[in-house]
Amino acid sequence: MMNYRHLFDGIEIPVKLGGRRNIIPINFDNGATTPPLKWVNEMVRKNALSYGPIARGAGQKGDKCTEQFEASRESVLDFFNLLGRNDYSVIYVKNTTEGLNLLANVLFEYKDCTVLTTRMEHHANDLPWRHTAHVEYVEVDKSGRISLKEIENHLAQNPSIKFVTVTGASNVTGYINPIHEIARIVHRYDAKLIVDAAQLVAHRAINMAGRCEAEQIDFLVFSGHKMYAPYGAGAIVGLTSYLNNLHPFLRGGGAVDVVLDNDVIWSESPYLHEAGTQNYLGVMALVASMQVLKKIGFDEIEEHETRIKNYLLKELSKIPEVILYGDVDYSVNRLGVIVFNVRGIHFEEVAFKLASQFGIATRYGKFCAHPYVDRMLGINEEQRQISEHTHNGEDIGMVRISLGLYNTMGEAKDFIHSLRCLIYHH
Ligand code: PMP
Repeated sequence: MMNYRHLFDGIEIPVKLGGRRNIIPINFDNGATTPPLKWVNEMVRKNALSYGPIARGAGQKGDKCTEQFEASRESVLDFFNLLGRNDYSVIYVKNTTEGLNLLANVLFEYKDCTVLTTRMEHHANDLPWRHTAHVEYVEVDKSGRISLKEIENHLAQNPSIKFVTVTGASNVTGYINPIHEIARIVHRYDAKLIVDAAQLVAHRAINMAGRCEAEQIDFLVFSGHKMYAPYGAGAIVGLTSYLNNLHPFLRGGGAVDVVLDNDVIWSESPYLHEAGTQNYLGVMALVASMQVLKKIGFDEIEEHETRIKNYLLKELSKIPEVILYGDVDYSVNRLGVIVFNVRGIHFEEVAFKLASQFGIATRYGKFCAHPYVDRMLGINEEQRQISEHTHNGEDIGMVRISLGLYNTMGEAKDFIHSLRCLIYHH
């Protein structure tokens, strides 16, 4: 079995547990943020030694950085199988949340439009649309899935739906949505598809071009810090024709061609949407991580993570106290993301004990996807109102494991052993 640990920085640093023993911690919280690749850190260090202003002046450092920064857009397009496609823009943002907020704000200029989203979404792909557009939701079924039929029903019934926005993979269940099949439906109704790729981007190859035009992804948003690069850089990749001639989300230098006393001529996309000094180091890191992931190959990445995920699902389903949410069927297209509860132990206690007694990092709660988690827990609408308002939702939640490329089968075995000990000693 492959081991990718040597490619990463900082994952072998021991921690002291309760002042007793030194152990190498296990990080099963990659859905939140991933540790950096060594190559990415090297590129950041190298570029940090000599950087200059981007697109602002005349000078050797600035020129070099501007050139690299502009070239990086091609690398991003290449990563999503859009090399040479000048009908797409790469707009750099801070993260997925900023990217989706930007889209929600600028695309809303397409007046009277309704946006169709789903109850599976992270808040980042729900709240911005609620703020700027009319929103309809595709419901999830009992196992937490959305159906293509329901997407089509919404589109057929409401011609004002101009955009459909859906997560590429859920940060709660890890379910991978069939984005190309969704694209086919969306395009049949003359709408455009936006994909929140925050979770998907580091785990599966994303072919935005699709196999044909009907399957193409029109807009996609992702964050570098979930793909083994540091914080602060992400991107929107989207159809330039939809991103030009709009009022920008942020206004300032770099987004304009001419400013007169009483008038402004805005630049074209992507510059229109990149006001202010850009995150050169973050973007260099992002591109470096894309290079490494491509080199390893997404088939390898998928195979490695799936093997560990299947082992965890199998072993977790053997523990009688464990309640697993979502499909446990191995054939389900799902990232290495598993949510569970332990009967009789509060989810927060499970997560804290895993961390403090065994050095295992997980996440607990509702994972910024409250409506989805409530549904997975079978909480009806009335109970949802009560739980949110009277208990702040504290009594409701789950524990989440989310795998990264550097996790190993040995760690999965340690995790199962630790969870069994935790339950036994409770
Ligand atoms: N969408 C999904 C599916 C996510 O998992 C996350 C992060 N948990 C986001 C959006 C937001 O990403 P960021 O915090 O990088 O903006």
